[in-house]
Amino acid sequence: MKLLSDIPPGTKVLLHVCCAPDASYGVRAMRERFDVTGFFYNPNIHPGEEFRRRAQAVLDLQEKAPFPLVMGSGGECEWEEAILGLEGEPERGRRCEACIRLRLRETAGKAVALGMPAFGTVLTVSPRKDAAMVNRVGREEGERSGIRFVEADMKKGNGYLESVRASRALGLYRQRYCGCRYSFR
Ligand code: SF4
Repeated sequence: MKLLSDIPPGTKVLLHVCCAPDASYGVRAMRERFDVTGFFYNPNIHPGEEFRRRAQAVLDLQEKAPFPLVMGSGGECEWEEAILGLEGEPERGRRCEACIRLRLRETAGKAVALGMPAFGTVLTVSPRKDAAMVNRVGREEGERSGIRFVEADMKKGNGYLESVRASRALGLYRQRYCGCRYSFR
């Protein structure tokens, strides 16, 4: 992981978790520096059966490698509204930015509600995610909510390979597409 923020060690961070494989490395890496609570919030995942499978995989990870975790819910209608008109965008395009913004906005709001001064995400573990865009959106949502976003590129320094290794070692479900019905197609 390459950390791009100067947030002091030990700070309480609400860490958005998109899936168990990314979290298998991302949560561990962030816990080496911060006081981390995971937050699973992903109304983008389609269909419902796949959502339940990914949510269960995160609970499996938490059971095997315990860490504080909050399971979010809802947001499906808001997600549909956020990506309206962007359905045909390619992956890493404007639809993905809207999708990531929605999830990070909710994470920032939850962090504020829990009295935490910072939030982050494990999304940048994936080589398919544009870390510069994720960090910019996180920074903007942090400014909007009045808290800090932990900027990082988690795939750096073998972060992605570590996530593959860790999730296989723990026997976690690994999905084959990003999450929404457009990425499934
Ligand atoms: S491809 Fe992934 S990041 Fe992009 S809109 Fe779909 S679920 Fe969200």
